[in-house]
Amino acid sequence: MKAVVFHEFGGPEKLRYEDAPEPKINETEALIRVRACALNHLDIWARGGTRGERIPMPHISGSDISGEIAKVGNLVKDHNLGDKVVIAPGISDGTCEYCTSGWDSLCEQYRIIGYETQGGYAEYVSVPAQNILSIPDKLTFEEAASVPLVFLTAWHMLTTRSHLTAGETVLVWGAGSGVGSAAIQVAKVLGARVIATAGNDEKLEKARELGADWTINHHSQDVPAEVKRVTNGKKANVVFDHIGQATWEKSMRSMAPGGRLVNCGVTSGGKAEIDIRYIFVRQFSLMGSYMGGRGELLKVLSFFEDGRLKPVVDSVYPLNQAASAQSRMEKSEHFGKIVLKV
Ligand SMILES: [Zn+2]
Repeated sequence: MKAVVFHEFGGPEKLRYEDAPEPKINETEALIRVRACALNHLDIWARGGTRGERIPMPHISGSDISGEIAKVGNLVKDHNLGDKVVIAPGISDGTCEYCTSGWDSLCEQYRIIGYETQGGYAEYVSVPAQNILSIPDKLTFEEAASVPLVFLTAWHMLTTRSHLTAGETVLVWGAGSGVGSAAIQVAKVLGARVIATAGNDEKLEKARELGADWTINHHSQDVPAEVKRVTNGKKANVVFDHIGQATWEKSMRSMAPGGRLVNCGVTSGGKAEIDIRYIFVRQFSLMGSYMGGRGELLKVLSFFEDGRLKPVVDSVYPLNQAASAQSRMEKSEHFGKIVLKV
């Protein structure tokens, strides 16, 4: 089969479009003919060698996969060849105390498909049959592939972690990212008011189209001052962050008393200084978030049936242009998901 593979860590030039062996399946797995695979920042970290010991080499990235079932193992029931499917990106043992209470991503055995296993930048991928989900009727392969990881992450951050409720205000950093564009929509479904930031006017306009009530240009405007202004001095109850170092101090200054900061990533770096006085006097909560549970993914997917949530596809590249697609993501030129068509 054709696949995009890297044999050593480094820049986008390490991605090679080449022939690779078709994956084998065991009796509980299925072989998927990949039709679309969306990019995530995780792919760039994997290629760059961050936590490289977790990456099977040579490596095929790609955690957000849609396609058709091409083959199933002997023990796999309820799936037919040719079914159109989307793949849940998390694998866990399903039996430990975390898995059985809905906290799959805390499982000792938790792995992300396409990061800690071989992924969907390829014509075929093997996945555990229990990770197969049907594609919501309205969605194309490209749209379906752009949903799982970011909507699961945004849902877990805003519901299970920070308990965002109707009438509260959330500050969403980086609305142009996949997870930011998902967060705006999830927050609106929950009945919250949304302040979204982005780096240019075109992205701010798109954020408003997705439902953001106010937008702030984080390059040219003072974010904490603007948050204070648009909320009539009340500030944000929840800050939704995936940027880390560059936004940390501004997030602290943007939070209302009792505010919750929830973070799922550090695209700008992972070191920050904390003035503990902010935390105890204003009774802030700082929360980490990583992926989410299978039940949460099923719940968030149900909102695509009635159109209350919509995939945000920035652009579609052919598989052999994966390096260009990743470069677009690294330069933050995108709004929503960049998808490879296979
Ligand atoms: Zn488990």
